[in-house]
Amino acid sequence: MHDCLFCKIARGNVPSEILYQDDEIIAIKDIAPKAPFHALIIPRAHVESAAQLTPDEGAVLGGIFALAARLVREAGYSDGYRVVTNVGAHGGQSVAHLHFHVLAGRQLAWPPG
Ligand code: AMP
Ligand code: ZN
Repeated sequence: MHDCLFCKIARGNVPSEILYQDDEIIAIKDIAPKAPFHALIIPRAHVESAAQLTPDEGAVLGGIFALAARLVREAGYSDGYRVVTNVGAHGGQSVAHLHFHVLAGRQLAWPPG
């Protein structure tokens, strides 16, 4: 996936503000934050979207949600947060590499737009 932005970020070929990384996932600050805290948690493996996930990825997904909770807690936000993954055009996905938005620091509207 040579022209995938998040593959390039995961390999360090495009600079980003890294919040956490291990062998399987990387968490960065979103370049255009939609809340006071806005991180992206990105599995290093190229998977297009949540629509491609299978039970085999269950452990990685559990790790992603655990990391989301930790990042928000360590950033000092204690009033809740939202984890979102957009799928496809109508879902609002603009980068075709699975990623989870983690938003915190303000009251988030529901339903989303
Ligand atoms: P989505 O629209 O759900 O696919 O989310 C893609 C997200 O990636 C958007 O929130 C963008 O602001 C963010 N984004 C795009 N380019 C970069 C970048 N170079 N570094 C960090 N975040 C980015
Ligand atoms: Zn990719």
